[in-house]
Amino acid sequence: MFLSLRTYLREEKPKDMSQQNEQFKKVVAHCKEYGFIFQSSEVYDGLSAAYDYGPYGVELKNNIKEYWWRSMVQMHENIVGIDAAIFMHPKTWKASGHVDAFNDPLIDNKDNNRRFRADQLIEGYAEKLQEKIDKEVIKARKRFKDNFDETKFLAESPRVVGYREQIKTVMDRFIKATGDGDMVELKAIIEDYEIADPETGSRNWTDVRQFNLMFSTQLGNIAGEEGKLYLRPETAQGIFVNFLNVQKSTRQKIPFGIAQIGKAFRNEIVARQFIFRMREFEQMEMQFFVRPGSEMQWYKYWKESRMKWHEAIGTPAEKLRFHDHDNLAHYANAAVDIEFEFPFGFKELEGIHSRTDFDLTSHQELSGKKLQYFDPELNENYVPYVVETSIGCDRMFLALISNALQEETLTSTSGKESTREVLKIHPALAPVKVAVLPLKRNEDGLVNMAKDIFKQLSFSFNCQYDDTGSIGKLYRRQDAIGTPFCVTVDFESLDDNTVTIRDRDTLEQERVPIEKIEAIVRDRVNMKQLFS
Ligand code: ATP
Repeated sequence: MFLSLRTYLREEKPKDMSQQNEQFKKVVAHCKEYGFIFQSSEVYDGLSAAYDYGPYGVELKNNIKEYWWRSMVQMHENIVGIDAAIFMHPKTWKASGHVDAFNDPLIDNKDNNRRFRADQLIEGYAEKLQEKIDKEVIKARKRFKDNFDETKFLAESPRVVGYREQIKTVMDRFIKATGDGDMVELKAIIEDYEIADPETGSRNWTDVRQFNLMFSTQLGNIAGEEGKLYLRPETAQGIFVNFLNVQKSTRQKIPFGIAQIGKAFRNEIVARQFIFRMREFEQMEMQFFVRPGSEMQWYKYWKESRMKWHEAIGTPAEKLRFHDHDNLAHYANAAVDIEFEFPFGFKELEGIHSRTDFDLTSHQELSGKKLQYFDPELNENYVPYVVETSIGCDRMFLALISNALQEETLTSTSGKESTREVLKIHPALAPVKVAVLPLKRNEDGLVNMAKDIFKQLSFSFNCQYDDTGSIGKLYRRQDAIGTPFCVTVDFESLDDNTVTIRDRDTLEQERVPIEKIEAIVRDRVNMKQLFS
């Protein structure tokens, strides 16, 4: 991470942690059971922080990328896309600051050789104090019921005030130490507050040292340091070094943007939380080049625009929030995260950064090549300023699926209750748009007709034909993978060429002529509705 810290004291209402963990476990299990995500190299007991996307996972991921790409590139006449190589000249990473400053503070436990990030240990300590406050609030809310005044309680309860002061003291020291790059002070904080390995309780720590997060490899034909290559830790630099190539070849005028989707690699010290923090992941980044001095206006524009993008797919507003950075990374003059409420709490989903002219100027200096734009309106050359939007595709996937996975109780007409797991993903993003199911699998007439319908629909959508179980089981399976429509072929279909079409969310079934299916599905799964 480049130094960039967020405001600490939490403002959201406390949640029950055990419930959050349960929900997270359900999401992870669901992803495996239904072929969304598998642990990488599972037959060899897995490789930590690397994951493979299964058949439904890859469809959903592709749809997320398409939604992002179309909203950025197709919907903006002044944004164009590129696909740069993962390998870049090693000087790129010197200029960008990654060689010298893309570090995390590393600390080892001498008793068990477990490796930690010192910043996360300290933040975890503050988080624990915050949880104690949360518990006090929950207790008090139960005790005082309708008379409970949370603001007053937070300001006046001696225990809570004590915890809050402690959080402030520890975080002030932490922010200063991180800002100064003072590893000795980070170790001192860990010792002063007796912070232990959360699992074993051991406090036998090594010193804190900086650990560079870039993976390196070697060029085949050059030995030693000179042949050292890095796997890109962000896609943005491929955009910066191509800035003039793109501007000249597409005759773009400032302001304009360059978008890119691609893999990035970070040797994260501690990578837990499933696909939230991976060592190989995918980013969707857009660098918007603007006139110096106009960057704050564009920063505001992109902040609002990106929030709307998240809301358009139905993510509830209360699960999204902005979180301004207090201490800015070396390249930024403003930065904000869009945070999503994952099952383990509010965490960064996307970053919007005003990156000034830092990157272009650094590449210009180190390469000796001009990276300037001639502004015909001002009749002058300058290095443009940049506003960046950067979102992890995998984190977006996790946000989507954690928000969409629901367990519902259904009551049949006879009053019998049952539960279903349903993925309420926006139809435009759903991996499978429509499933075609024969009411009975041993009836040739039904099977043939269903297969014909499937064949026709598959020209337009990603569809599925399934006859592997009873109709009730087939519906449940489609609910679990988020298919918005199920078409059922029954005996009536053979007589009058009509089928039933079942809506995943309302469970309503409508009888429609076969030739109308395509239009009904198309209307709901069209991405167009997300863009308006
Ligand atoms: P964090 O503070 O969580 O480490 P960051 O601030 O370092 O993230 P950026 O460098 O701003 O992240 O990267 C932009 C986006 O890329 C993030 O908002 C996130 O969605 C995604 N991202 C970053 N690191 C990872 C990772 N290790 N695994 C998955 N996605 C990631």
